[in-house]
Amino acid sequence: MQSMPPKKKAAAKKAAPKKTTKKAPAKSAASKKKAPAKKGEEKKRTVKAFDTLRGMKDILPKDEVYWLKSRRVAEDISGAYGYGYIQTPVLENAKLFVRSIGKGTDVVDKEMYVFEDRDGTKVAMRPEATAAVARAYIGNGMRTKPQPVKTWYYGPMFRHDRPQAGRYRQFNQFGCEVIGERDPVIDAELIVVSYNYLRDLGIEPIVHVNSIGSPEDRQQYIVELVGYLRSKRTYLCDVCKKRMNKNPLRTLDCKEEGCQEVIEDAPQIIEWLSADSKDFFMKVLEYLDELHIPYVLQSTLVRGLDYYTDTVFELYTEDGEQGSQSALGGGGRYDMLVEQLGGQEDTPGAGFSIGIERVINTLKHKESAEQATDQETTPKRAAFFFAQLGVQARRRALRLIEELRRSGIFVGASLSKGSLKNQLELANKMGATHTIILGQKEVQDGTVIVRDMDSGIQEIIDHKKLEKHLVKLMKED
Ligand code: AMP
Repeated sequence: MQSMPPKKKAAAKKAAPKKTTKKAPAKSAASKKKAPAKKGEEKKRTVKAFDTLRGMKDILPKDEVYWLKSRRVAEDISGAYGYGYIQTPVLENAKLFVRSIGKGTDVVDKEMYVFEDRDGTKVAMRPEATAAVARAYIGNGMRTKPQPVKTWYYGPMFRHDRPQAGRYRQFNQFGCEVIGERDPVIDAELIVVSYNYLRDLGIEPIVHVNSIGSPEDRQQYIVELVGYLRSKRTYLCDVCKKRMNKNPLRTLDCKEEGCQEVIEDAPQIIEWLSADSKDFFMKVLEYLDELHIPYVLQSTLVRGLDYYTDTVFELYTEDGEQGSQSALGGGGRYDMLVEQLGGQEDTPGAGFSIGIERVINTLKHKESAEQATDQETTPKRAAFFFAQLGVQARRRALRLIEELRRSGIFVGASLSKGSLKNQLELANKMGATHTIILGQKEVQDGTVIVRDMDSGIQEIIDHKKLEKHLVKLMKED
């Protein structure tokens, strides 16, 4: 007789009824199917391993280099530009986001994680941080502090989006917010900080910029836009047909080919700006020119959230896997937000946020993890602080700081208005060894004052010789 293969033998053994002297009672169909397994075996079959929820990821030690670096560079650059760290809770009252981001936006209507807390309050897992920072500004009486209040954050956000490459349900953002002052130099500084953050990480950013004016400018423009879109309705995708009535500005960044053709000839928002908004935007662009920050004027850029006014911008790169398809970050001005959230009237603000997962995906695409480890640089600490007084000095300071940064000399600054005393205090807080001071007189003379923060000794240095002088001081330190 042919012997059975071992597996079959075992199966035959299991299937065979147990030997018994009494006649066994009739078994149900279910129990007939499987013989009871041994104790240990049963456990193995029933304990199922958990997976992360859809759209959520573990951050693992293999990616530590990227994550720690993305945080450290955020810390360095925020400190250098005079931003203070803020951390708001992950859970907030859901109304905070409905009132700020707005009904009719994808984030509020479709993507927010909302649930009832045990006491019946509707809470939301923050989909972004700007509204929460504005809430913190109001609730913590930051209006009484020297204005503007400049903060930065780094942490997780939650959006119940359809997961795909570069789009997750939990993701991290680094962001900066400046609340309490309306000045084009702030918008320019935010663009510079976000641009330099990506550059310091090794990514070459492309800045897209536009202005969406005041709510009144926008109202008039929307009437014009809807009229135009109605006349082209048949060429629009189904989503845009709905958007046209609900949130017409969103049609402007639809990626569908038919919609893109329609949008190409759409009226441009810039033509509907008031003189004040136009003038403000021109000044932002002048600052960017002054700083040699390359930008693309993108007339269809509107950003998706209700609270934006005037300047809006986004950062892209060609370095990533998806080319320049999806933005690494974005931001803009939100002059009405604080008031909308119950804060004092006339409290303007502006900010940006950058998606860390997309940054890291870009870095990974660009270089292997091994190269990234090799390229790890020691953290740069600001040894110098640039203080400026007066409009002309501020402009010149912007340029000088950028020139120094490009030569590898890290200079901290607070470019919005502020007394020399405040600026020197900030320089001290940052641990600057020297402060470079530029006033009206120095602008005219083409010089700066370099002040030793320990001894108080001051030297007058020509603009052209400043870089060399600072290099010398770094060597001495
Ligand atoms: P937003 O304010 O929506 O433009 O978001 C700012 C940045 O956060 C984007 O440019 C992305 O880099 C990042 N971001 C937004 N939503 C997601 C998401 N669902 N998954 C990953 N990153 C995101």
